[in-house]
Amino acid sequence: MMNEYYPFENLPLPYAYDAMNPYIDTKTMELHHDKHLQTYIDNLNKVIEQNPQLKKYSIEQMLYNVARLPMKVQIAVRNNAGGVYNHRMYFEQLTNPGIDKPTGKLGTAIEKEYEGFENFKEEFKKAALAVFGSGYAWLICDRDGNVQIITTVNQDNPLEKHLYPLLNIDVWEHAYYLKHYNVRAEYIDDWFMVNNWRNIEMRYDRFTEML
Ligand code: MN
Repeated sequence: MMNEYYPFENLPLPYAYDAMNPYIDTKTMELHHDKHLQTYIDNLNKVIEQNPQLKKYSIEQMLYNVARLPMKVQIAVRNNAGGVYNHRMYFEQLTNPGIDKPTGKLGTAIEKEYEGFENFKEEFKKAALAVFGSGYAWLICDRDGNVQIITTVNQDNPLEKHLYPLLNIDVWEHAYYLKHYNVRAEYIDDWFMVNNWRNIEMRYDRFTEML
């Protein structure tokens, strides 16, 4: 991930706004990237300008150490550094046509934990559907290299719990309302069609090689 330090900027998407059609519509991609993510970028820069001691931290370091910050700064960092990191990750792992399943070490870890990739998808969908209100479902990996599905609220990020994020789905309504209305289940099914498993495998390999 580029631009990991202040000042943060909204890097362009690595594909066209209409690249995820028909699974994620053009207008949603435009608004989601150019408006929603932009707001988190602007607010994160403001938080850091008001708290210049944060300038030396990368965005991952800020999220990893958020609990050590003063309470007022904690909330602002959790919401805005989380908002930037979570959205960048969400956009980066999309590709069309999608890569339908993981292979390599990550493929093996998912097979082992979930007894097959189809079963993993069912469990992931259940978790994403169960997020009440706004938040994310994630595939994370712990310090032993084990994978697990978790959910978070708002813009919280697993790094705060010292879990490493591999894959996320944004289930805030702004991620799907224009195309899927209130039917989150159909959005999740469409989102599965545009996952870039090569990219997600690389995150797993990079993290587990540090262990
Ligand atoms: Mn979003």
